[in-house]
Amino acid sequence: MPDVLYFNGRFTTTEERVLGVEDRGFQFGDAVYEVFKFLSRRPVFIGDHFRRLQRGLQAIEISEPWTEESFGAMARELLARTAFDDGIVYVQVTRGEGERSHFYSDHMQPTALAYSRKFRFPDETKKEHGIRVITTPDLRWRHCDVKSVNLLANALAKKKAQRAGVDEAILIADGSVREGASSNFFAVRDGRIITHQLDEHILPGVVRDHAIGLALDAKIRVDERPLRDTELFDMQEAFITSTSMGVMPVTEIDGRRVGNGRRGPITTLLQRQFDEAETK
Ligand code: PMP
Repeated sequence: MPDVLYFNGRFTTTEERVLGVEDRGFQFGDAVYEVFKFLSRRPVFIGDHFRRLQRGLQAIEISEPWTEESFGAMARELLARTAFDDGIVYVQVTRGEGERSHFYSDHMQPTALAYSRKFRFPDETKKEHGIRVITTPDLRWRHCDVKSVNLLANALAKKKAQRAGVDEAILIADGSVREGASSNFFAVRDGRIITHQLDEHILPGVVRDHAIGLALDAKIRVDERPLRDTELFDMQEAFITSTSMGVMPVTEIDGRRVGNGRRGPITTLLQRQFDEAETK
């Protein structure tokens, strides 16, 4: 069944071929995107996702197609037209369509689209057993804080993980751990959490932010700093965070067990509290 699609102010389905071949999103990856989750047709943390989209558009000087209000109204109508209750919404804004040239006009009309899609979120068994990961060099550009659609390096890293029979690739640069190919990465050592600080090397994950808040509320210390790759094998727990996975334990890195190879107590606590926060 085709998905419900919002495209430049109207609703259609993903069956319609809406995009021009000279759209800069297609030609140059000149676009940013968002993915948010909905549960019982209610968008989860939509304000956080809208603000990140807005920051990304401002960073690459694409004009903003929505205000927070009109974005919310679009999302509500999209979900009202959607045939199922839980899933994800993919949103993309490109600089727009125009004759292909590296030089772009300052006055382009952005292309704005969003569609809802069914998504199988991890079940209790997966959440308990967690995932295995590999490490791989971070080959991305130097503005990873912008959620750009240029995901080639991420996709190649993800493929490498898939070929290794694991779920995620953890990206390493200059001897330190940055984040996952589609997630943020956290280590737990001696009762403290360590995760990369917000800068140009990582995406400011919405779940990352909530997980840190929950940890601080629980009086768990959080050190935001680069984790040396050598530290990867000297910790009791590890987890990743993302909209689609929530808080997900990491039980094995490059074939070596993390801690005792089971979901640890801090990960379990944050996972439970995060799942609860999503439904509030
Ligand atoms: N880092 C990268 C590179 C990602 O692609 C994602 C998922 N979009 C994340 C982190 C997690 O972000 P969020 O928690 O907002 O889904």
